[in-house]
Amino acid sequence: MAEYIIVGGGIYGCALAWELAKRGADVLLLEARKIASGASGGLGERGVRANGRDLRELPLMRLAYDIWSALHEEIGGFTGYRRLGHLHLIEREVDLAAAPAQVWQQNQQAIESHLLNAAELRNLEPNLSDNVIGAIYCPKDGVADHSATTRSMAVAALVQGATILENARVAGLSRRGDRVVSLSAIIDGEAAEIPVGEQVILLSNAHVGEFVAEQLGLRLPIWRMWPQVMALRADIPPPMTHLIGHAHRTLAIKPLPDGRVMVSGGWRGRWDERTGQGEPTAEQVEGNRLEAVAVYPALADLPADEVFTDRAEMLCVDGIPIIDHLPGAANMLVGVGWSGHGWAIAPAVARLMAEWALSGERPGLLAPFGYERFLA
Ligand SMILES: Cc1cc2nc3c(=O)[nH]c(=O)nc-3n(C[C@H](O)[C@H](O)[C@H](O)COP(=O)(O)OP(=O)(O)OC[C@H]3O[C@@H](n4cnc5c(N)ncnc54)[C@H](O)[C@@H]3O)c2cc1C
Repeated sequence: MAEYIIVGGGIYGCALAWELAKRGADVLLLEARKIASGASGGLGERGVRANGRDLRELPLMRLAYDIWSALHEEIGGFTGYRRLGHLHLIEREVDLAAAPAQVWQQNQQAIESHLLNAAELRNLEPNLSDNVIGAIYCPKDGVADHSATTRSMAVAALVQGATILENARVAGLSRRGDRVVSLSAIIDGEAAEIPVGEQVILLSNAHVGEFVAEQLGLRLPIWRMWPQVMALRADIPPPMTHLIGHAHRTLAIKPLPDGRVMVSGGWRGRWDERTGQGEPTAEQVEGNRLEAVAVYPALADLPADEVFTDRAEMLCVDGIPIIDHLPGAANMLVGVGWSGHGWAIAPAVARLMAEWALSGERPGLLAPFGYERFLA
């Protein structure tokens, strides 16, 4: 019987398996498909960004900065982590007026941040449109290869003695009182009942809402969406060298190691009942591309080379995750609702969740993410 059973083999499940196993815990991870087949895999890279993040997550990012820089050595695997620096571009006077407050607040949280005027910004990014009048700059922000990191984490967890089962879909749970005593799963097509030693940690992202509703009768304030990412054709070298965000446009841009430019930032796919996943739509693709062209005119003639909307993510009603035990399942820790920016903080949150699972004490940095915030 495994002491700690983790449901979901994305970055959260794999990082937590590693954190627990290296502290000597007995860990079993169950993944319905393959490692990194959800939001933690797919095209391009993920931003590791503090700039513009919800204030409640900034202390987690401070910890994450430290973890990310040494992670490849600690896990002995590739992460592709690069500190490109993030520029939060500003085109409107109204956003320029608000920028000093954001810079001050981020610096208060030890997130190095600078307000750049137009000339200082052009020194870093000479190919920007003239409409961009300034930026908030976080030099420690960067990117990582999410698919590679997640797989490296899984390997590191295995090396530390964790057991990982792929093709193992969790379908239900049994409780005695308010304790989960076993999970039912379909493993390689066969039904199995898996006894729970100490705790279950539910990190199956897009699956969590329905599972908790069915099994605990609890409706969480989260919902599924299908973020859109595209890579533009590499006809020219990327005109940017930083990770790019924007104060009022729905836009994120990354120069990829393969010479293409990745464009995303919040555009979405449409749910397709036939395929059971998000499908790109022409207007969302063009809308996202035009936002990129508005700040980098050199991208104007580059068509989308690849577009994907097949990786689901869960949004939470207040834009930050729920990380907590839920009523009716005292030994099940849940992490969900990363709201489109869960990648960057994952190594920090996984470390804190491991401490919580082992000690029974919620770490102070996780207090803002409790379920109790939704209760009257
Ligand atoms: C397109 C896109 C772009 C993003 N960009 C950024 C970014 O730039 N910066 C950033 O910080 N964040 C970003 N995010 C968010 C970030 O990637 C996610 O928050 C993070 O990867 C979530 O990790 P996870 O482990 O919780 O979920 P997932 O990676 O989705 O893993 C959950 C796993 O659970 C498995 N599973 C599901 N049901 C079951 C079941 N019944 N039994 C067992 N296993 C099950 C799934 O197969 C999946 O592998 C982005 C997300 C997307 C989709």
